[in-house]
Amino acid sequence: MPMDELDFGPPDYKDMLPDYISKNYGKWKCHELLEPGVFKHVSETGDEVYTVRTGAPKFIASQTVREICDIADEYCGGCVRFTAKHSIEFMTPEKDNVEKIKEAVGKLGLPVGGTGNAMHSIVTCTGWVHCHTPATDSPGIAKAVYDELLPYFQRDDLPARVNIAVSGCLNMCGAVHCSDIALLGMHRVPPKVNDDVVSTACEVPSLIAACPTYAIKPKMLKQEDGTMKKSIQIDAPKCMYCGICYGICPGVPLADAKNDGVSVWVGGKVSSTRGGPAFSRLVIPFLPNNAPRWPEVVDTVKKIVDVWAAEAKPDERMGEWIERIGWKAFFDKMGFEFTEKHVDDYIFSVRDMNWGARLKGTELK
Ligand code: SF4
Ligand code: SF4
Repeated sequence: MPMDELDFGPPDYKDMLPDYISKNYGKWKCHELLEPGVFKHVSETGDEVYTVRTGAPKFIASQTVREICDIADEYCGGCVRFTAKHSIEFMTPEKDNVEKIKEAVGKLGLPVGGTGNAMHSIVTCTGWVHCHTPATDSPGIAKAVYDELLPYFQRDDLPARVNIAVSGCLNMCGAVHCSDIALLGMHRVPPKVNDDVVSTACEVPSLIAACPTYAIKPKMLKQEDGTMKKSIQIDAPKCMYCGICYGICPGVPLADAKNDGVSVWVGGKVSSTRGGPAFSRLVIPFLPNNAPRWPEVVDTVKKIVDVWAAEAKPDERMGEWIERIGWKAFFDKMGFEFTEKHVDDYIFSVRDMNWGARLKGTELK
């Protein structure tokens, strides 16, 4: 058998494109937003493709996937797109299918929207169900925020788009670092060391080597019979609560029901328009984990979006609005308290920032 047939991995995405996309590949001339959640692409060949974008649950039952595929089979030539922004896009060359798709997804409970000057789909990581390091349940928060802000998803009359992202911890699989509003799970205490588990179930050198901030040191414990056993100790000020050690060794669990919660960051964006890309910045260091509806988090997000929507100029993203009015005015308007937690005292931050491509050559030492 030839080697290329033995290889595995993701198939070439071009094999997955429907005819009406592949024959216009690289030839798209323009696109137009027809109504919230519906847009039209026009090709140089004159072909048109209509897209209906919907929000999506963060976890989908296989039955729901089948029902989504049934809609794609009926109206989209069997193709459907799950986007990196956690939307579902149904694309069709037939204009008449647009209303039929909207009706079909409506029956499934999927809202149409998230285009143009709207709240776009909320991106999240997997949270409590699948990951071992979360400080909060990202999909649960996303659902609660979505429910409250759904009108902003279905309309497109905000000053600009607003991207909201949720990550269960600072590993940021939810890509919160450049979002208009970022909700980030926060651990506030280092992992707890269970010496018995560490010494019997873990490879201590690997555990020490796994820590990116050198916070883990070896420790020898004298046992009752006089023999020594190996364990570790954690230098708390160096720990950044990343949970990597827990992935290596079950003897250092990080989750803590009392101390884990959610922080709120604002003003980030990826786009290079006007001031360029920007990181989100901390505005609330800690909100409690009040599952299943996180009322404190939801109220905070709604307040930020409402005030920004009322005061921003057309096309002014969240961060641009804050830069114009000033951070002090932002904190005053929102009623947020500025605390010592807003001062970046992470001991490696300057060194780490100097490793970033965008900050090389700056004054930072
Ligand atoms: S961001 Fe953290 S909690 Fe979420 S999936 Fe990644 S490692 Fe897990
Ligand atoms: S949580 Fe991260 S920084 Fe803290 S000890 Fe474990 S690996 Fe090191």
